[in-house]
Amino acid sequence: MDNDAIALHSVSRGYGSGEGAVTALDRVSLSLPRGSFTAVMGPSGSGKSTFLHCAAGLDRPTAGTVTLAGTELTGLSESRLTKLRRDRIGFVFQEFNLLPSLTAAQNVALPLRLAGRRPSQARVREALAQVGLGERAGHRPGQLSGGQQQRVALARALITSPEVLFADEPTGALDTRTGREVLELLRGLVDRDGQTVVMVTHDPVAAAYANRVLFLVDGRIDGELADPTAAAIAARMTALEGTPC
Ligand code: ADP
Ligand code: MG
Repeated sequence: MDNDAIALHSVSRGYGSGEGAVTALDRVSLSLPRGSFTAVMGPSGSGKSTFLHCAAGLDRPTAGTVTLAGTELTGLSESRLTKLRRDRIGFVFQEFNLLPSLTAAQNVALPLRLAGRRPSQARVREALAQVGLGERAGHRPGQLSGGQQQRVALARALITSPEVLFADEPTGALDTRTGREVLELLRGLVDRDGQTVVMVTHDPVAAAYANRVLFLVDGRIDGELADPTAAAIAARMTALEGTPC
């Protein structure tokens, strides 16, 4: 059996043409096993978001293949890709992206409704309880703190039991303490439930929650660290950011 949650084979993503052409991702190959927690780091503009969007099927590579648990995304029609994103991928953004007029429970249920399924209240409550918000189901985003809103977004991403949970700077809009709570939750999902998590972050402390840290420079993987400390990650980042672009 294929034990990789995600595999990229020589994935490139270019933008524009001629003088203004940019290679945001340049022949990236890697595989992430099920149940792994990976952090992606790199200087601003190094291709982190492009990598995450291509791996999650939110964007299409210009070359190469992306395979999610045995399904090649790159060959799928738009409608099949949309369905796969809904059913098998979770995504969390820096800015939460909750609908302000909906309660926490309604926000969490939304992906199931969009997929034409009738969300069971028990399943929604379970997802909220999983992120420690069982008591907040009826609150709207405006009545919740930033950390709580991000946890609602996490529950929304988990409601379909996705094969991979992607997070782009999930703690970027949070203070240190609430950011840690979100990171503890992500770590717990990996340890308890075997969830596969891929997270982009700028923060060495956040990246140290992962088992593996990948460094992107100019759209290429420029090394990695296994089970690193925050200090080791910070030292690596300082070295990378010192390189002229
Ligand atoms: P990061 O997330 O590491 O800051 P991005 O993946 O957002 O980097 O961007 C990588 C490179 O691709 C940058 O040079 C950026 O300007 C370029 N880029 C990203 N998205 C687009 C786009 N839609 N059109 C043109 N260039 C883009
Ligand atoms: Mg980015």
